[in-house]
Amino acid sequence: MRTPEPTTDGLKLDFSGIWSYDPAPEDRGHAKIDARYGLFIGGRFVEPKSGRYFDTHNPATESKLAEVAEAGAEDVDAAVAAARKAFPAWSKLPGAERGKYLFRIARLLQERAREFAVIESLDGGKPIRESRDVDVPLVAAHFFYYAGWADKLQYAFPGKTPKPIGVAGQVIPWNFPLLMAAWKIAPALACGNTLVLKPAETTPLTALKLAELIRDAGLPDGVVNIVTGAGATGSALVNHPGVDKVAFTGSTAVGKKIMESLAGTRKSYTLELGGKAANIIFEDASLDQAVEGVVNAIFFNQGHVCCAGSRLFVQESVAGTVIRKLKDRMQTLRVGDPLDKNTDIGAINSRMQLDKISGYLKIGLEEGAEMYQPACELPGKGYWCPPTLFTNVAQSSRIVQEEIFGPVLAIQTFRTPEEALEKANNTPYGLSGGVWTDKGSKIFKMTGKLRAGVVWANTFNKFDPASPFGGYKESGVGREGGLHGLMAYLNLE
Ligand code: NAP
Ligand code: MG
Repeated sequence: MRTPEPTTDGLKLDFSGIWSYDPAPEDRGHAKIDARYGLFIGGRFVEPKSGRYFDTHNPATESKLAEVAEAGAEDVDAAVAAARKAFPAWSKLPGAERGKYLFRIARLLQERAREFAVIESLDGGKPIRESRDVDVPLVAAHFFYYAGWADKLQYAFPGKTPKPIGVAGQVIPWNFPLLMAAWKIAPALACGNTLVLKPAETTPLTALKLAELIRDAGLPDGVVNIVTGAGATGSALVNHPGVDKVAFTGSTAVGKKIMESLAGTRKSYTLELGGKAANIIFEDASLDQAVEGVVNAIFFNQGHVCCAGSRLFVQESVAGTVIRKLKDRMQTLRVGDPLDKNTDIGAINSRMQLDKISGYLKIGLEEGAEMYQPACELPGKGYWCPPTLFTNVAQSSRIVQEEIFGPVLAIQTFRTPEEALEKANNTPYGLSGGVWTDKGSKIFKMTGKLRAGVVWANTFNKFDPASPFGGYKESGVGREGGLHGLMAYLNLE
């Protein structure tokens, strides 16, 4: 074993200028995971009143990582009460003081980046290269960004007097466990709200580590509360009468249920839901660059990405070339151990998600599509899916219309920009999209007409805390990130 250096070992500056770490495979032992976690309520970890615990697993090995408390209705009640109690003092604190806590959280995250990255990959299955270079640096960046807003809120909305809303009830999914927690927690605190957050059942560990870090940062008790559990815990939280604002990220099906249950209440809400993004390649694009972009768009995080480019549209004249290049590139992707720095595609997050993806592969074949998967050896244990593409699909195919949330791409062709736009917009979703072309005018024409909240040009899956994120149609309501992200946590009068 290598002896760990205390601070700067493996520290390097990545291209985005954010500090990130380079954990060697043997560093996996440095992630400290307790055997059992309680609920983080009122500034400390407590036993659940429900008396129940559930296991969280490593999806790459199927082995148990820890036991985690399952919050029942009484526990949610206690967490909301703690947040309510903390609200008056926290909301009256000068913005500059609140900002200091957020800066401290961001700096502590950077110091412990290695541990967070390793635990994120262990609990959720994503490649360490991604948790190390994308997730954790973005989490720190998010806290830094909103720390900067905390003392400038009165200038953000001219003519308005922004006031915090109260207690936020926040529910997040398993695909970016720590990043989604940061998207929820940082703006809520900057605006003077207190909160209760519920992580997803399969990936609770980094949120619990974040609770430890928040405690170490000296945040006043009860400002942040973290309750673990499954859907019933989430439901108890969003329906709790002591919650003033609901922030939900997850599936469209659950988002609809939440919207129904909130109708007629005084609660405000944001819903960040599913997607089925179109990635459009024109014949004048740099094709090699576009193929790299397609790989990043659909295989990043095993395709467990709400804004994944899961539908590819290629202009007919270059379709053969693009598909050939894409298949060649797919053969070089390494599927396997998430903690290996050379892994491109890690483990599927859970048995349930793998079953869902496998079900869609079967549906695609039954619908008459042609499937391609490169030959690759998959580990004997754990949940795995090779990178997959389908050609010969119809616009009405289920694999074209429905969110698969796995490393599965459906390819269609088009002749004119109008045809590409019509097909791209023809799904119930509207979260994101991508355009690849050499012509600036074409970029403006396409991005203006794609009905999607985020559109990338000659790149894909790039995130920045300063840019708002959110969807149209069944992809959700409201925006997170940037100045827009503040609005969701303020009463503006
Ligand atoms: P999900 O099943 O909707 O779950 C999301 C969260 O809600 C989990 O914490 C879940 O608990 C909880 N939950 C389940 N039922 C609930 C209920 N009735 N009331 C309140 N909470 C409830 O989604 P997922 O499978 O975890 O995540 C994948 C989905 O998230 C995809 O559709 C993806 O597109 C979407 N997503 C969207 C964005 C965005 O920004 N638009 C970002 C990331 C992901 P459990 O622990 O039991 O699951
Ligand atoms: Mg897990």
